[in-house]
Order: sequence, then structure tokens, then C-alpha cells
Amino acid sequence: MLRRILLGMSRSPQMKKAVSSLPVSSGIVARFVAGETAPEAVLATEKLVSNGLHVTLDHLGENVTDQNAASATANAYLDLLRKLSAAGLTKNAEVSVKLSAVGQALPGDGEKIALENARTICLAARNAGTTVTLDMEDHTTTDSTLAILRELRQDFPETGAVLQAYLRRTESDCRDLAYAGSRVRLCKGAYKEPESVAFQEKRQVDKGYVRAMKVLMNGEGYPMIASHDPRLISIAGALADRANRKPGSYEYQMLYGIRPEEQLRLARLGHTVRVYVPYGEDWYGYLVRRLAERPANLQFFARSLISK
Ligand code: FAD
Repeated sequence: MLRRILLGMSRSPQMKKAVSSLPVSSGIVARFVAGETAPEAVLATEKLVSNGLHVTLDHLGENVTDQNAASATANAYLDLLRKLSAAGLTKNAEVSVKLSAVGQALPGDGEKIALENARTICLAARNAGTTVTLDMEDHTTTDSTLAILRELRQDFPETGAVLQAYLRRTESDCRDLAYAGSRVRLCKGAYKEPESVAFQEKRQVDKGYVRAMKVLMNGEGYPMIASHDPRLISIAGALADRANRKPGSYEYQMLYGIRPEEQLRLARLGHTVRVYVPYGEDWYGYLVRRLAERPANLQFFARSLISK
């Protein structure tokens, strides 16, 4: 119930205005967001990489409403990739892109604009020696995002996909994407979705996650297990063993600021562990989704608002 209210809040302009006045350095924001600028994000990346972790960086923002804002997001990624390259980090750090931040939701030509912007980012990433993963947003965008992924993979087969275990369609999407060279991030899913398309109960979502993981681990692609759930992480390891996969033929992914000790523990065991590092001024929607996942975070959040 609380999760649904919070996810509703993530789309409220009034709440956004009130909460966005928090300084990014305030406790709860700084825990989940690496900063508002590219240099701050690069600094956070350097620290993680020096601890043996890999990184995927997300320039925060979603649902842009005009073409200039879409181009500005694409330019922010180009600037970030230049900075990562100059810092010698592109071997261990890639970028994650939300298509709605590069124009997907624009009326008319939105999908085409998003594809062109994403293509520009993929080219810059390849020239810098790294890759792009396309984040997955709410279910109304799944078909469009997978269509853009297919187009991009013709020229950039290294482009990563994301599938969400809470969607009823995901096991079938996993089968389509479990081919050689295909990088697929599997997450539970972070949006408020109707029962017609998505499992609502945690138990059902977890079962869906295990079914999807089985398909990916037994397939030919490169599974990216994006979860903090201890049970799913241990099942992932067992499924990988059973499929004769060695560390390096799949990876674990977690969010910046969540279970950092577990990230290091898995890395010390020889696994590739990639941390999703969000940065930028538009952190409101991302933060509220993180709060919705764990009501205990609300205490810290309330304290930040009171001490503002
Ligand atoms: P949960 O059942 O939510 O959590 C399991 C345990 O992890 C909890 O008991 C707690 O110990 C810890 N934990 C989880 N969340 C938090 C938190 N916010 N604060 C503190 N502790 C926490 N979703 C999308 O819809 N699209 C995407 O493109 C996408 N990309 C992602 C990329 C990465 C690398 C990761 C890790 C997640 C991504 N997500 C994405 C979010 C994902 O869908 C889930 O909402 C999120 O990961 C929480 O699910 P969980 O698997 O960790 O399980």
C-alpha cells in the first residue's frame, strides 16, 4: 500500500517541488545519488573502481517534454563519456540511458528522436571503449524500448537490455534475448504497474525473477543479475554453477548506496559486480522509487526534511 502511494508521489509536481529543494548533500539524497555534476559522478566512479567494482552511470532525468531537453541529455552523456575516458575509467565503467530522457515520450517523432540520440551515445561509448545499457521504464514503453534496442543492436550489438521480473511477459522476452553476445540486466521492476500486466505480490515477483533467471543462465547471452535480494543472489549463483557458467560469464549489479558490503563481498569472491551510479539535478523520481522499496528509508528522509 505504502509502496503504491509513494510511487504515485513520484509523479506529483507539488511533491517534486517541495522535495527537490533539499540539498543533494543531505543525508538521504547523498546516500543514493553520487552528486549533481559529471565531475562528482566521475569521482564516485573512481572510488568504486579502486575497490574492485564496476560501474554503470545514469544521468538522472526522465520523460523530457521537448526536443532541446532530449538533446541536452544526450550531450550530458557525451560529456560524461569524455570525462570517464580522460580519467581512464572506461574499461570498468559504462553508461545506462533512459530512452524517455532522450525523447521517447515526445509526441510524433519521439521514438525516432530517442533512437537517434541513443545511437549518438552508443557511438561515443564505443569510441571511448565502453558500452551502453538501455534502462527499462514503465510497461507502456516496453515494446518501444525493445524495438529501439533491436535497431541499435544492428550497429552496436554490445548494447545492454533490461527486463523486469514483475511483468508477466518477461519470461518470454528473456527467451527472445538469451542469444550469444546479448547483455541482459534482470531486475524486479520499480514502477507502479496494473495487475493486468504485472505481478503484484512480492512472492509472485520473486518466482518470476527465478524463472527469468533460469532462462538467461541456461541461454547463450550475458546475464546481469540486478538485485539486492540475498535469496535471489544465492539462487543466481546456484543456477550459474548448474549451467557451468564461470564468474565473468555473468555479473551482479546493485544500486549505489544499497548493500555496499555485499557488493564488496561478491567482488572479493571473484565476481564482476557493477554498481549503478545515478547523478544529476533531476534526482526526485529516482529517490522516491528507492524510498518506496524500503519504508525504513522514510525515517531518514523525514529527518532530512525536518533538518532542512
Ligand atoms: P527487494 O525485494 O526490493 O529488496 C531486497 C533487499 O535489498 C531488501 O530487503 C533490502 O535489504 C535491500 N534493499 C532493496 N532496496 C533497497 C533500498 N531502496 N534501500 C535500502 N535497502 C534496499 N528498475 C526498473 O524498473 N528499470 C530499470 O532499468 C532498473 N535498473 C536497475 C539497475 C540496477 C543495477 C538495479 C540494482 C536495480 C534496477 N532497477 C530497475 C530497480 C529494481 O527494479 C528494483 O526496484 C530494486 O532493485 C529493488 O529490488 P531488489 O531486487 O533489490 O529486491
